[in-house]
Amino acid sequence: MNEDVRRFAGKRVVISGASKGIGRATAIRFACEGARVALVARTRQALEEVAATISEAGGEAFVAPADVTQEDQVEAAVLAAAKEWGGLDIVVSNAGIELPFEDTRVDQLDLAVWQRVINTNLTGQFLICKHGVRQLLKSGGGAVVMVGSPCGYRGFCFHEHAYTASKGAILSLMQVMAVDYIKDNIRVNACIPGFIDTPMNAHVMEDAGLLEHWCSSIPMRRPGTAEETAAVILFLASDEASYVMGSAYVVDGGQLAG
Ligand code: NDP
Repeated sequence: MNEDVRRFAGKRVVISGASKGIGRATAIRFACEGARVALVARTRQALEEVAATISEAGGEAFVAPADVTQEDQVEAAVLAAAKEWGGLDIVVSNAGIELPFEDTRVDQLDLAVWQRVINTNLTGQFLICKHGVRQLLKSGGGAVVMVGSPCGYRGFCFHEHAYTASKGAILSLMQVMAVDYIKDNIRVNACIPGFIDTPMNAHVMEDAGLLEHWCSSIPMRRPGTAEETAAVILFLASDEASYVMGSAYVVDGGQLAG
């Protein structure tokens, strides 16, 4: 573990979508900075591999498999983590799916696809926040970081109407939670990753033409990394962001600005 920067020593974090991509990088970075990290996703084996990476480096992780669309599973996972450590201080609500080959324009969009995306990306974040915030209230405060998308602001995820709607709603939920919970000493913010090289985008990374097309809309002309995104999530969760609430921090190589 990195002994130089330990902003999260003594802090207890639950993070959804921790088995890969942005969530995995965020969990590892939190552990590197001294936090104990509860890892939530559906795939136990992948979570165990992340936990092993953390513990081999001297950190502490707790595997808490759950499908974020299932309230009983989310509640059990959050309670198990809180029981293990005597409470929680930080919630990172990150798990999400994108279904680029099924999600489409509304006139062609299957209700089942719409519901799958909304259940995971919106209801799943609601449920992690619901049960996570209950623990933060017991702890006397803390921080929540939700993960949105630039398409929550602008319609540039062409033909992905369910994904776009889910991410727009994350921004609204984040803002109303931020205003309502600040009196409880809980800061709520969102990280807005742009085009990030994670398993979610494997189909783009493997297609040179598509990759070039995506990068052409990014002033920095490259995808971001999961680690670059994790750095912003950690900032928002840290005491360095003590006057930051209700904000959406964009990590997109300038895509929204361009
Ligand atoms: P990945 O596909 O790489 O990882 C998604 C994570 O979510 C995995 O850990 C997956 O684990 C978990 N997950 C998916 N469905 C569920 C579920 N029902 N219950 C529990 N866990 C679930 O995605 P990214 O890391 O790229 O994305 C993370 C977040 O960032 C998402 O909210 C995404 O929308 C957002 N984002 C990503 C961008 C990008 O370019 N990568 C851009 C903008 C936003 P498992 O399959 O084991 O359950």
